[in-house]
Amino acid sequence: MPVNLLNSFRISIEDFYRSHKRTMPWRKHNPVPYEVWLSEVILQQTRVAQGIPYFNKILQAFPTIEDLANANEDHLLSLWTGLGYYNRARNLQKGAQQVMKNHNGELPKSSGDLIKIAGIGPYTAAAISSICHGEKIGVVDGNVFRVLSRFFGISTPVNTSGGLKEFQLLANEIVHLSNSSADYNQGIMEFGALHCTPKKPLCMMCELADICTAYNTGKVDVLPVKKKTVKRTTEEIHFAVVVDKAGLAMRKRDTEGIWAGLYEFPRLEKPPLNGLPAAEQIVHKLSHKDLRCHFWKVTENEINEPITYYTKHEIRKLGMPIIIAKYVEKIEF
Ligand code: SF4
Repeated sequence: MPVNLLNSFRISIEDFYRSHKRTMPWRKHNPVPYEVWLSEVILQQTRVAQGIPYFNKILQAFPTIEDLANANEDHLLSLWTGLGYYNRARNLQKGAQQVMKNHNGELPKSSGDLIKIAGIGPYTAAAISSICHGEKIGVVDGNVFRVLSRFFGISTPVNTSGGLKEFQLLANEIVHLSNSSADYNQGIMEFGALHCTPKKPLCMMCELADICTAYNTGKVDVLPVKKKTVKRTTEEIHFAVVVDKAGLAMRKRDTEGIWAGLYEFPRLEKPPLNGLPAAEQIVHKLSHKDLRCHFWKVTENEINEPITYYTKHEIRKLGMPIIIAKYVEKIEF
């Protein structure tokens, strides 16, 4: 790409950031690496407005990396309830323990060292090192793919290893022209989130419209390109809702799968013959499949596993998938 085009793009993005950046608790004059790390992990699958209260309460409970490393896992997961993708929380804690053990409680500065920490991928490593230490490395996430592919007219599918490489190289090339990789990287993400949005981007008011390839070739709606992935599937789950004077029966899942380490109702292999439906079925949508959850009121005789009962007070301290947490709220016991 011609350097002057890269530069015009970069300058517009940095200007956009300086005049439109949203206030966020981790955006500070001197950003704290732990806070940037926590915010990036929360925002990976969550919108900013939804993520901020979680950021605040997790930081309040665990103000330092050391506190997070020593946190009780159930306590951490209970604060994470509602954010989903609980492996993020578990990896965050694993990463904190690694930082305590190998780096004296301080996150390393370079993206090359950060990426060795559990749960920190290329995107988060680039975000922390560029925002906190000015490393000239480009961040590449969904917003960045979209803005770069539209502006430069790149139709390589973004969800392929070739696409990822091409966009990362371009992002690095641009950030090398900048005097503030923190402003440029945060700027392109902010520009993608607020202006060059997936649907109805604000092309009519865009400072880049004159030189934007997608806008000038009528391709705004077709970029970025994504390679088709496998079809969604549906999984039926039958939960046993057993209420006793000792409380509500819950079980902790083992360490595999999306809800690893979280608490849920005991499961039934199939609908029980004598079970009363406790409520309508609820469909929980994941990125790749739907979980159709059925809740059955049964007695403990229907269950083939050891049961532990928890009181309402005890249950509030358990980490649960959001669908279970919401359901528990509705049960009288
Ligand atoms: S003109 Fe439209 S597509 Fe191009 S950068 Fe601006 S908002 Fe995005």
